[in-house]
Amino acid sequence: MEVNVIGAGLAGAEAAYQLAKRGIDVTLYEMRPLRTTPAHKTSDFAELVCSNSLKSKELTNAHGLLKEELRLLDSLIVGAADRTAIPGGKALVVDRVQFSARVAEAILSEKRVRVIREEVDRIFDGVNIIATGPLTSEALSGSIKTLTGEENLHFFDAISPIVDGASIDMGHAFFGSRYMNDADDYLNCPLTEAEYNRFYDELLAARRVDLRAFEDTHYFEGCLPIEVMAERGRQTLAYGPMKPVGIVDPATKGQPYAVVQLRREDMAGRMYNLVGFQTKLTYPEQERVLRLIPALREAVFYRYGSIHRNSFINGPAVLTTGLQLKSNPLVFFAGQITGVEGYVESTAMGFVAAISVLCFVRGKPFVPPPPETTVGALLSYVTTPRKDFQPMNVNFGLLANYNKKRKQGVVDNALASIAAWKKQVEETL
Ligand SMILES: Cc1cc2nc3c(=O)[nH]c(=O)nc-3n(C[C@H](O)[C@H](O)[C@H](O)COP(=O)(O)OP(=O)(O)OC[C@H]3O[C@@H](n4cnc5c(N)ncnc54)[C@H](O)[C@@H]3O)c2cc1C
Repeated sequence: MEVNVIGAGLAGAEAAYQLAKRGIDVTLYEMRPLRTTPAHKTSDFAELVCSNSLKSKELTNAHGLLKEELRLLDSLIVGAADRTAIPGGKALVVDRVQFSARVAEAILSEKRVRVIREEVDRIFDGVNIIATGPLTSEALSGSIKTLTGEENLHFFDAISPIVDGASIDMGHAFFGSRYMNDADDYLNCPLTEAEYNRFYDELLAARRVDLRAFEDTHYFEGCLPIEVMAERGRQTLAYGPMKPVGIVDPATKGQPYAVVQLRREDMAGRMYNLVGFQTKLTYPEQERVLRLIPALREAVFYRYGSIHRNSFINGPAVLTTGLQLKSNPLVFFAGQITGVEGYVESTAMGFVAAISVLCFVRGKPFVPPPPETTVGALLSYVTTPRKDFQPMNVNFGLLANYNKKRKQGVVDNALASIAAWKKQVEETL
């Protein structure tokens, strides 16, 4: 059976290569150069649209571990990056032109891959992998909406920072929902009037990331950056995302002047999201300004806030654990559109989609990679039901068994688990 892979970016290239290598005929569709996106500049496969860094090489860093797992899985993208690396300290930095050339060479030498340069506006008969990325063209967005339901395709990604639960100063934080009727859904971080005013002044003065020309500076009201909201007046935040109404601080037995509410991102409470704190401050400024919140003085950031154009589906609502559309088993999603964020994360979701498709066409059950691996943890994140699903980059907080005190053990276990999964996949297929 032929598989149509739509989009020859990082995920699409990885998926097409993995399928062809295992004996599947692939038609790979890419719209560039006939039509381009606001960020791509070439017609190359797997173009790195911004930085030429694939982040940390260190295994004790989640980005480094993810790459190592993909190396063990014989990833085309990570292999090409290793072969075209240039000096970059602790990061895997590549010559972007040579990198794309390597990827193209590997794909074009696979006789089972046919490349068609065309802007796709529909899904095809047979099996489809949609890997059209954060800047999916409008022509296809309409069809995706029909497939997933309009409410499950998002075009904007407004994310607030996530901090390590263990780094929160519990001497300045307490659990409780607004009106205290639902015990510990939120972790509240109170501020006095003086602390609020200082935070407000620094927030307004902080440096922001320049918006790219193609990004719409007319924000949706529902996802205004916190600093833009603050520009409307000193009290806007105290009546908005920092409103203290219905919250009683057990330390003072009174209502705080303002409060930042944190919500768990995982069952274990390793990761906490700053509710309503989507922001375009630069990363160092996010650290500096948000650490003015007393409970977050020592906060360790797992993810920084950002707002940018990003097409992604509500994976947990519409996908199976094999990245297959629940409502149409002939459609799979891969890459950033599944709700991961980042070059290597997108690649990982390209790899998984390919294995899942292989299992499907060969009538074998798909067993997801274990959640103790970074690949498995990302897959689990984008396919496990959760409230307010927002895209995520790889981090240790996602790992099922993460324990900061025995990081090396977690890393060793992840590598052993991914190798065992690979063996199992090879035996199954
Ligand atoms: C402006 C910007 C900057 C980013 N910077 C970074 C960064 O520095 N580091 C990082 O780790 N991540 C970054 N990302 C996030 C993300 O990891 C990358 O966008 C990554 O390339 C996603 O991989 P992908 O394979 O899912 O999508 P892409 O690599 O974007 O591939 C999708 C492909 O589909 C094609 N396509 C789209 N629509 C159609 C259609 N209808 N028919 C046929 N082809 C189509 C596109 O031309 C493209 O080649 C950035 C994202 C954006 C938007």
